[in-house]
Amino acid sequence: MTTNKGCLELIKSLFGAAEPVAEWPYSMKDSLLSPTEISFYHVLASTVNEQVVICPKVGLKDLLFITKRYKSRDYYKYFGRISQKHVDFVLCEPKSMQPIVAIELDDRSHDKTSRSKRDAVVDQIFSAAGLPLLRIAAAKTYNTSELTAILAPYLQRGKAQSAAPAAAPVDQSSPPNCPRCGIPMVVRTATKGANAGQQFYGCSNYPDCREIVRIE
Ligand SMILES: [Zn+2]
Repeated sequence: MTTNKGCLELIKSLFGAAEPVAEWPYSMKDSLLSPTEISFYHVLASTVNEQVVICPKVGLKDLLFITKRYKSRDYYKYFGRISQKHVDFVLCEPKSMQPIVAIELDDRSHDKTSRSKRDAVVDQIFSAAGLPLLRIAAAKTYNTSELTAILAPYLQRGKAQSAAPAAAPVDQSSPPNCPRCGIPMVVRTATKGANAGQQFYGCSNYPDCREIVRIE
């Protein structure tokens, strides 16, 4: 009983249950975005014209995952590199919400040495994950035709992603490697839908990676 009471006190002290909620020091920000980000956001929104969903302030740990290719003792090393970082905007394919391209709005703070070191690491992380990252210089005004030209290849890729057929079936006894993660896939059985009962290869990083390969 004493132990339970001790635990309760500890929980109360950790979560401040004794303090009236009205006194908790939380307050809503006036905007999710800074004025510089808002001004770019409006230009971006008019440029992409609802072809993609614009997600602002995306945490890298929500956007990326650590594939099972790593050695388990290294998990926290790789997780530590993404756990506190955010990217300014991510454009997603509207139906699947699959990320197409990320955008960093670079202001003057990016010139500082510590910031540029951080930027170099972020560039390498995105390159490893295979997600394009665009760096756009923050400005008072933006050349919309220039921005349209920069984004066009990604918007087209987004359309292709949404219309892409499932990968071609394979006829082999050993599992193929996941085309995205590069690790052997595992045999799974569809439990619902029109293909219920059918076997297919799925990525062992599921649900983070939903790549599938049909089995003939
Ligand atoms: Zn995969």
